[in-house]
Amino acid sequence: MTNKYMYFIANWKMFGDSKTLKSLGNVIKFVKENKNKKFKIIYCPPSTLITSMSKSFAKSAIQIGGQNCHYEKNYGAYTGSINAKMLKDAGAKYVILGHSENRQNGEDDELINLKAKNSINEGLNIILCIGETFKEKKNKKTFSVLSKQLKIGLKNIKNKKKIIIAYEPVWSIGTGVIPNNEDLFKTIKFIKKKIKYLSNSVLYGGSVNNKNINELKKIKNLDGFLIGGASQDVKKFIDIIQKTYN
Ligand code: PEP
Repeated sequence: MTNKYMYFIANWKMFGDSKTLKSLGNVIKFVKENKNKKFKIIYCPPSTLITSMSKSFAKSAIQIGGQNCHYEKNYGAYTGSINAKMLKDAGAKYVILGHSENRQNGEDDELINLKAKNSINEGLNIILCIGETFKEKKNKKTFSVLSKQLKIGLKNIKNKKKIIIAYEPVWSIGTGVIPNNEDLFKTIKFIKKKIKYLSNSVLYGGSVNNKNINELKKIKNLDGFLIGGASQDVKKFIDIIQKTYN
């Protein structure tokens, strides 16, 4: 970990309902009791929970993010979609873009770039997910894949302060398999060099849990974690944060 603020971003994916919100009291309490520690928690629930979560976190330092948004900046006839403006209106300050689960459904870098530009223009911070597949890793394409995703995904974005990068190797998401620390250090270093703007935070995501955090926290250039499965359990999520600092 670096000496910057560490991010702990909870990606709830398509999980969670009004009952789940009740468990968040513990995380609010945890944040209050740990004000002296340099971390930021961002919850990215399904869109249906953004407004109610914003109300729950109103007096807390915890912030909210969307999990994706439509590329169109204006309102329009796009059934089932929401745009950055709507996310902001509902209380989000962040949005995850380019998650591999959406890339696998056909989202390409150009589309992600449109979303990124509109989200930033709307005042949101973006969490841009990048990562290679297992086949690309095996073929030693990791760095070229990441370069392309960063180059096109961040094209023409001037307000660099609003960008967080999450390195999420596709083969690590939900699989329980994580990269070794040496590889991860090299990849994060590569990403930081590519984005040039050194104050950008670069996070790792992929099967982070309250066991492997003891190894992952040793990586000196990491600015935090994007956590899927383990973030849905408040106890495990808090445990990950606590262990990062122990
Ligand atoms: C994710 O969805 O971004 C993620 C990292 O998931 P998991 O932690 O479950 O691998």
